[in-house]
Amino acid sequence: MMVRGSQQMLGKKAAIVLVLGVMGMLIFSVFWQGSTAVVSPLGKDFVVILDPGHGGYDPGAISSKGVYEKAINLQVANMVKEMIRPSGVKVFLTREEDMDFVPDGVKGKTTKKQIDLNYRIDMASKEKADIFVSLHVNATTAGRNSGAETFYHYKSESGKRLAELIQQELIKISGMNRRIAKPGDFYVIKNTSMPAVIVEVGYLSSVKEQKKLQQTWYQEQLARAISKGIANYFELP
Ligand SMILES: [Zn+2]
Repeated sequence: MMVRGSQQMLGKKAAIVLVLGVMGMLIFSVFWQGSTAVVSPLGKDFVVILDPGHGGYDPGAISSKGVYEKAINLQVANMVKEMIRPSGVKVFLTREEDMDFVPDGVKGKTTKKQIDLNYRIDMASKEKADIFVSLHVNATTAGRNSGAETFYHYKSESGKRLAELIQQELIKISGMNRRIAKPGDFYVIKNTSMPAVIVEVGYLSSVKEQKKLQQTWYQEQLARAISKGIANYFELP
């Protein structure tokens, strides 16, 4: 008896928390929109959404030394932002700190992930982004792989072009594996309405690479390559 009663209470509580969470997100998005409208210059500027993967409750890959993917993603994204901004391209980050977009009380790994990704996808649509670039770091259990890889949705020709242009620059970094851009069917590149790519900048599972991935000079090389690829996509000088 008691159990049933309290379960019902919990159900109600969870619903209230969810409603409050959604309201919070709406308020947040209004502010987010509002703040970008102020800085918006010419209507013709290209708009890039950089998406530092994971964040908040979700660390992404974790290296054997306890390095979190979410931290590297954000560091590289900030560098890319600084590097392409002078060209006049408008750049937005889906997150500027260690956070996620899942309201409190939401349960279930898949549900949480989907809510988080949908929020990022919606941001890109609201900003009328020309391209969506999601930044990640890879990991495998074997630990043998290294190097950067760029993925595009297999049905997107422009996504393919963007991925190829970024990957072409990434393989110029010394010591980088000569991988090519690859088609994929990942949630984020499948559900964005604009050309979208996932850049896996390296492998945290590689002993050698995990050290480099934490260093500023190496992150700058990655960021420069990604920026160059984006500039080439827009055919900027
Ligand atoms: Zn990731």
